[in-house]
Amino acid sequence: MQIIDGKAVSASVRERIKNEIEILKNAGKETGLAVIIVGNDPASKVYVNNKKKGCAEVGINSYEYALPEETTTEELLELINKLNGDSRVDGILCQLPLPKHIDEKTVINSIAPKKDVDAFHPVNTGHIMIGDYSFLPCTPAGIIEMLKFYNIEISGKECVVIGRSNIVGKPMAMLLLHNSGTVTVCHSKTVNLAEVTRRADILVAAVGKANFVTADMVKDGAVVIDVGMNRNAEGKLCGDVDFEGVKDKCSFITPVPGGVGPMTITMLLNNTLTASKNNK
Ligand code: NAP
Repeated sequence: MQIIDGKAVSASVRERIKNEIEILKNAGKETGLAVIIVGNDPASKVYVNNKKKGCAEVGINSYEYALPEETTTEELLELINKLNGDSRVDGILCQLPLPKHIDEKTVINSIAPKKDVDAFHPVNTGHIMIGDYSFLPCTPAGIIEMLKFYNIEISGKECVVIGRSNIVGKPMAMLLLHNSGTVTVCHSKTVNLAEVTRRADILVAAVGKANFVTADMVKDGAVVIDVGMNRNAEGKLCGDVDFEGVKDKCSFITPVPGGVGPMTITMLLNNTLTASKNNK
């Protein structure tokens, strides 16, 4: 069994991004990311800080807009509209979840597709569907990057994704399909889940439940990708996979922390680089 080291893959991709940002800078093009956070959610604050740190590491200028909890949808749309027209800003990221009173769908749809570095806008999700895209959603894109880094073949492989969310499960399935995997998507209504997951050469768990994937659900020699970010009873960060129980059955496995997580921010930086090149 080999552990897929998300930090090492991430460091290598960030090095490449840093070089490309530097080349743009030398040609007179600065790269900028606007990061919007509304309210006081502690997890969101940690994510936003890590995104800002990632920007600094590779030479992207980050502009933070920290808005109070009581911000209205209209006020947020006004800011996004301003950023859509701001030439310093190549990418706009609005940290989710937003407070309940804000209309999240309208907010996502208001970001100019060419600045939508999270790739959540319907125009970008449509491009992903037909395989003609500038931006890929960060978590699934990071997973494909890790598989490629470890020379793990996707073509012709049985791929099973547990989870069908718009930000992870569905685009993950689509990217595996674009890479010629034979893809099955499972969800909470899937019957005999373990029977389906045991077919997987590549199993991606994006459920949001600690220790959900157990050894009896995994085929010998499978590649297991754990997207989950959960807290166990002791408050420790853990994934969706029972790592200790599953690891000896796998050929490759991602740990939590240190697997998929570091790649997500790296792919956001990569999307910002793409936006900057397109905006030259
Ligand atoms: P989500 O929107 O809650 O989706 C969870 C999915 O799991 C749903 O499709 C749900 O099915 C399915 N599910 C729930 N219970 C199930 C069961 N018993 N059997 C089979 N499927 C089941 O979550 P998400 O946003 O995709 O995130 C998933 C996990 O990834 C979370 O832990 C999140 O924190 C983590 N995450 C990590 C990163 C990272 O960078 N590492 C990024 C994003 C998310 P239904 O559709 O039928 O309800």
